[in-house]
Amino acid sequence: MTLLDTIPTLPKVVLHDHLDGGLRPETIIDLAAQVGHTLPATDPAALKAWFVESADSGSLERYLETFDHTIAVMQTAPALTRVAREAVMDLAADGVIYAESRWAPEQHLRGGLTLDEAVEAVQRGFAEGVDLAAREGHSIEVGQLVTAMRHADRWDEIADLALRHRDKGVYGFDIAGAEAGFMPDRFPQVWRRLNDENFPVTIHAGEAAGAESIAQAVHLGQAQRVGHGVRIIDDITGLDTDTPVLGRLANWVRDNQIALEMCPCSNLQTGAAQSIASHPITRLRDLDFAVTINTDNRLMSGTSMSHEMRLLVSEAGWDIHDLLNATLVAAWSTFTHHDARLALGERIITAFEEIHDGSEQENES
Ligand SMILES: [Zn+2]
Repeated sequence: MTLLDTIPTLPKVVLHDHLDGGLRPETIIDLAAQVGHTLPATDPAALKAWFVESADSGSLERYLETFDHTIAVMQTAPALTRVAREAVMDLAADGVIYAESRWAPEQHLRGGLTLDEAVEAVQRGFAEGVDLAAREGHSIEVGQLVTAMRHADRWDEIADLALRHRDKGVYGFDIAGAEAGFMPDRFPQVWRRLNDENFPVTIHAGEAAGAESIAQAVHLGQAQRVGHGVRIIDDITGLDTDTPVLGRLANWVRDNQIALEMCPCSNLQTGAAQSIASHPITRLRDLDFAVTINTDNRLMSGTSMSHEMRLLVSEAGWDIHDLLNATLVAAWSTFTHHDARLALGERIITAFEEIHDGSEQENES
């Protein structure tokens, strides 16, 4: 067994996965028929290809347009519950044992749901998915991250929503959407409020915009994690030498081990990175940044955690220890408490050891 063969069985942690970016094509077709929404294709394979091709345009804005179709079919409680349930089952089948799934409830009110009803519908789906996965022998924990859209002016309201559901499945708060022009300082009071409430925050930053966006996320937003964060690389000089020099912000992010939720395939599609081999994730890992591997949008990127890991192994030279380290960093950066993180980390180490020992014995025989 090679490492590439064992990847699907490795225990995985995903911190950055959009609920509205991971639907099954069959489900979109089904739900679209129910609500009379017109899709660009009605054959599952063709629809899947359309999503990946449209998302491949190299522009974050074009990439975001593909969500019009997924969001259109997620406007009722049963639809949200189904999509959430299937997301958990798909992640579990890929070896994910812990996931934080993010989505923006404000985009799912066109069918008459309230924000609270939308969050509850997704929570039901997650609970059902966890139960169904358990019956298939997969143990997975899933938390919601409630996202506010950057261009909309509902950050306060959505932060309150997240806080109302903090002990009922919502683990953290995020902002997403067009990054440039919609920085955290648009509504500084939101971050103060969340900090006052000791509530975890992750912010998309350093994907379409640069260091200033990351600085605002970690300082003003006091984000414990950064979504993507690819462009922290811009604050490091001498990358082609043996002694790169970190700027003050890069040092801050590394010193505080602020987790970078990196999504290699997605970054190629939006133009935030040029190739898997040259993706900053590998260089940042070598420099001891807290890098984690994520999917972002499984549908639009035609990806999965196993796929992202396989690409890093085959194109960027990652080995089993690198995958274990990134998975442990992710476990340590989950929006759970200390004891839960420790337990998750122990589960990961044990499983990696078993899989690694098993494949070594096989190689010897
Ligand atoms: Zn994202």
